Amino acid sequence: MNIINIEHIAKIYQVGSEEVHALRDVSLRIDKGEYVAIMGPSGSGKSTLMNIIGCLDTPTKGLYDFKGVNVSEMSDNELAAIRNREIGFVFQTFNLLPRSDALHNVELPLIYAGVPAHVRKERARLALEQVGLADRIHHKPNELSGGQRQRVAIARALVTDPAIILADEPTGNLDTKTGEDIMALFNEIYEQGNTIILVTHEEYIAEHAERIIRIRDGLIEKDEKVLNRYVPQKNGASKT
Ligand code: ADP
Ligand code: MG
Repeated sequence: MNIINIEHIAKIYQVGSEEVHALRDVSLRIDKGEYVAIMGPSGSGKSTLMNIIGCLDTPTKGLYDFKGVNVSEMSDNELAAIRNREIGFVFQTFNLLPRSDALHNVELPLIYAGVPAHVRKERARLALEQVGLADRIHHKPNELSGGQRQRVAIARALVTDPAIILADEPTGNLDTKTGEDIMALFNEIYEQGNTIILVTHEEYIAEHAERIIRIRDGLIEKDEKVLNRYVPQKNGASKT
């Protein structure tokens, strides 16, 4: 089943009197349960595409069907409702609330969704357990390592049981070893049946996915299966 069906979208930003064509003509389909990496040089349109897929923005032209619903012309409020229910975001810079502990950070999407307090605390606790942070739930971001912060952000993305998880350079602020641990976690999440779309600059990170889409100048240059995807070791001992 296609979760994402994008047909001939373009995104044009108006910067002063100039038009910036961030996406020119992009078509792609992504099925439920796929693990896709998006690669391309800086400025090629990766984040613009992720923002559209994640219902943070709409295309200037073309069609975007998300789970069979045309979202390309939705209002900001309608988009926000879909985003909160269906999309989990993970960012390079973690984007956690600095004054809140891990549990509260993970609870936030459930607060927006109106889930009662006792239910959401339990679900947040389970999500933190799933990412290996059961013993860190009352730590604040500055009491956690970079890898642990990214695990909190991943727990926050998972807690609503979203239809897709979007990760924009999730290992970009981490050292190689910690980045590998985070990729092992994404692999577990994928093996549980989740749909993951990941932006990365690094070929070896992209090869964790089963499909790589290469973008250049707002166009898809290549879209192909990874023949020998890199499957990380089960991540038992090291909790970064
Ligand atoms: P990438 O994530 O691949 O580095 P982006 O999608 O961020 O690329 O950007 C693609 C192009 O669109 C770039 O030329 C960038 O400067 C431009 N762009 C991105 N976002 C905006 C915006 N909000 N306003 C104007 N131009 C933008
Ligand atoms: Mg970007």
